[in-house]
Amino acid sequence: MRYVSTRGQAPEMDFAGVLLAGLASDGGLYMPATWPRFSAAELRALRGLPYPELAAKIIAPFTAGSITEAELLAMCRQAYAGFAHKAIVPLVQVDTNLYALELFHGPTLAFKDMALQLVGHLFEHVLSLRGEKVRIVGATSGDTGSAAIEAVANRKNIDITILHPEGKTSEVQRRQMTTVKADNVLNIAVAGNFDDCQDLVKAMFADEPFRAEMNLSAVNSINFARIAAQIPYYVYAALNLGAPEREVAVAVPTGNFGNILAAWAAKQMGLPIAKFIVASNRNDILTRFLDANDMSVKTVEPSLSPSMDIGVSSNFERLLFEFLGRDAALTAKTMADFRTSGKMAVEAKVWRAIRQQFQGYRLDDEATLKEIRRSYTESQYLADPHSVIGLAAGRDCAPVGLPVIAAATAHPAKFPDAIEKAVGSRPPLPPHLSDLYDRKEIFTRAPADLTAIETLVRNFANRNQNA
Ligand SMILES: *Cc1c(COP(=O)(O)O)cnc(C)c1O
Repeated sequence: MRYVSTRGQAPEMDFAGVLLAGLASDGGLYMPATWPRFSAAELRALRGLPYPELAAKIIAPFTAGSITEAELLAMCRQAYAGFAHKAIVPLVQVDTNLYALELFHGPTLAFKDMALQLVGHLFEHVLSLRGEKVRIVGATSGDTGSAAIEAVANRKNIDITILHPEGKTSEVQRRQMTTVKADNVLNIAVAGNFDDCQDLVKAMFADEPFRAEMNLSAVNSINFARIAAQIPYYVYAALNLGAPEREVAVAVPTGNFGNILAAWAAKQMGLPIAKFIVASNRNDILTRFLDANDMSVKTVEPSLSPSMDIGVSSNFERLLFEFLGRDAALTAKTMADFRTSGKMAVEAKVWRAIRQQFQGYRLDDEATLKEIRRSYTESQYLADPHSVIGLAAGRDCAPVGLPVIAAATAHPAKFPDAIEKAVGSRPPLPPHLSDLYDRKEIFTRAPADLTAIETLVRNFANRNQNA
């Protein structure tokens, strides 16, 4: 498979190149040159397969030329072996035509594990073929750091350093990062806030000599490998609900637009998805766009569903590229204008075409708590503040008669405060994390100072020579 940039000025690459590069050199996002197609018979043949086998079949066309299907299957088996549910992505019925697709049975209890667990193996595989080592550095306000750490823990050719703001993450979030037993993981508690952490990471990447010396890399959310790894679960769920003979709808709690874009990719590959419902919290740029062609940037406000607190959805550029007929020059111009003006100009006919498939939905914090209570009392289904927005969207916006697959993106135990507010008690951690509060934490404290952080990263990289 070849990959092209949405902005048309970066070299085409194969899968391995895209995996390691992340962002394209022209600032665009990589997309497959064409979408692989599965016929109805080919889809039907996937029904009933264990999840890792189905995942390997769906992802194989994207990695073709870089990774064989047998290698990919072995990686999928390893990636999902540590999940706490035999089905990996169980589909739970919540109402007559409403199903929660639980994507949170991985090590960090959130859907990021679905992609990152596999991406860790893909990185390791490609790096060992090339005889390269990378050092991943990242900043986290809580959620993404643990998923990245769990993804690469104990991988030989990768070190990872995650900066978190000291005292400003929840205790569960911090412990999920600092209790991972792996000698390639360095956690740094920075005396500062999340913005300081992010600035320090940016500064390390901007420090060319340091960046080259350390071969710095990132596991960012715009890597196409992550999108590819999110397609199979939609196929899995839809097949269980009667596809390809029966159409389905999907409802997805959305932040950066990566998860719902993967559902749209599944449709390009032949899965009959009739409707895509984009569910947001009060940070509703996508809902405003879908309701009124108003894609204008507003200040991000904190909500009960922090992983959806975004000002701009970076993966939307991929959908735009498609609906502009893959016109990279026009995509580049639209994105450049958006960057300078804070408002995206999308022609009415393009907007209408998007609207035919996509619908927006929004829920504020108060309604979110009410919906948690409702699904708990009506169906004994305890949903976290992200997942419940998807469930409510699915119930309120479903096309008549179609089953809706609502992506459940986090385990309720990850957000005990909100759950307690809604239903009066705190959900217990699942068994594999029940001793989280007793585990030993390992982290290093540092001031919000570039030289101090770079010294820590360098010493960590050289730790074996010094030993
Ligand atoms: C990341 C995340 C989302 C948003 O997913 P996108 O792919 O960025 O749209 C939703 N819910 C949870 C719990 C997440 O961690």
